[in-house]
Amino acid sequence: MIDTHTHLYSDEFSDDRHEMIERALHKGVSKFYLPAIDSTTHEKMLDLESQYPERMFAMMGLHPCSVQPESWENELKTVEKYLNERSFPAIGEIGIDLYWDKSTLDIQIKAFEKQIDWAIERDLPIVIHTRESFDEVFEVLERKKHPKLRGIFHCFSGNLEQAKHAVELGFLLGIGGVVTFKNGKIDQFLHEIPLDKIVLETDSPYLAPVPHRGKRNESSYLELVAGKLVDIYKVDFAEIDRITTENAESLFL
Ligand SMILES: [Zn+2]
Repeated sequence: MIDTHTHLYSDEFSDDRHEMIERALHKGVSKFYLPAIDSTTHEKMLDLESQYPERMFAMMGLHPCSVQPESWENELKTVEKYLNERSFPAIGEIGIDLYWDKSTLDIQIKAFEKQIDWAIERDLPIVIHTRESFDEVFEVLERKKHPKLRGIFHCFSGNLEQAKHAVELGFLLGIGGVVTFKNGKIDQFLHEIPLDKIVLETDSPYLAPVPHRGKRNESSYLELVAGKLVDIYKVDFAEIDRITTENAESLFL
């Protein structure tokens, strides 16, 4: 399995990071994609990546919650500098978050669009964070429509119509712990979305799947997400693993 979205460099894992990674490897998670947040964590992320060169893959980008009036332009310069220095498998996580702060919508859109331009120029996928912002995100994606624009709706938790719209725009759905929640809703329609549009993720340390809901999430719990997809798609675990792994491999070339 591939965990396409996991913040393993986060401080929540300071005490047992390596044991936690061992547990995930043991459960069959073979690769880990690390989404960037901002300049306060880029170094920690790149440092972890260098410790597990065949396993960890850092993305680069500015998270929408880190788009702040006083610093976003400098933060974007830092992202651009990294993108010019070395290769990354994706630009992320980027997008729009209207749950935490609606007042920054204007600059969130500007930062999102700039990073989409960089992704198209570099032929890279994007990893999108969308929270209470599907309409705004879709508007940007429609405006930026391009044959090279592709990626993942990370932690997808929208409705069927939004899922279909994302797929039509050339995106995959990142499915994590929410699919195991009683009130998560996506488990009720996901079977209508072909499995070749799905990738697995944990979003560790957030959004732990049932029965760990509310506690720290970790990549070994990816097994529980895949297990839920076995019920939804009525195929065996090996098939879920094979198809979602292929989907991730062909996106993150
Ligand atoms: Zn994330």
